[in-house]
Amino acid sequence: MARPPKWRKVEFIPNIQHFVPLDIEKNAMEENILRIEEVEAIRLKDVEKLEQEECAEKMEVSRQTFQRILNNAREIIADSIINGKAIRIKGGNFTRNICSVQCLDCGKEWKESYENFEKVINGEYMCPDCQSKKIVCLNTNGHKFCKRNCWRRGRMR
Ligand SMILES: [Zn+2]
Repeated sequence: MARPPKWRKVEFIPNIQHFVPLDIEKNAMEENILRIEEVEAIRLKDVEKLEQEECAEKMEVSRQTFQRILNNAREIIADSIINGKAIRIKGGNFTRNICSVQCLDCGKEWKESYENFEKVINGEYMCPDCQSKKIVCLNTNGHKFCKRNCWRRGRMR
């Protein structure tokens, strides 16, 4: 049984994605990867100064998961500064919104990223269990964004 990834909701995707120390030869330079959700954790906690609980809610993860993401982010940034390494921001299981979706053929329910769910339109999106393409948004998480933009039952062919 295929398990869908655990999505982390982010509001911010940085335009500047590469930070490089100047005082080091390019071929001697090491590079750390900072994932998009780690940048979001730093932004919410250390820039927006939100409480941990609020941060976790915004990213739709547990407090423990949020703390883990934040700790990773701080370690990477600290290592880069202390050891003179570049930082490249890329990748991760991030999404602009998380949709609760259901397969109409096998009944499986799961959380999917809004971006993946958009692929329904091109027929590129399938149930991870039965490969059916009859997927609907359950609209159970109450987000306006989801209701406005998701592929809905009424638009199914
Ligand atoms: Zn299915």
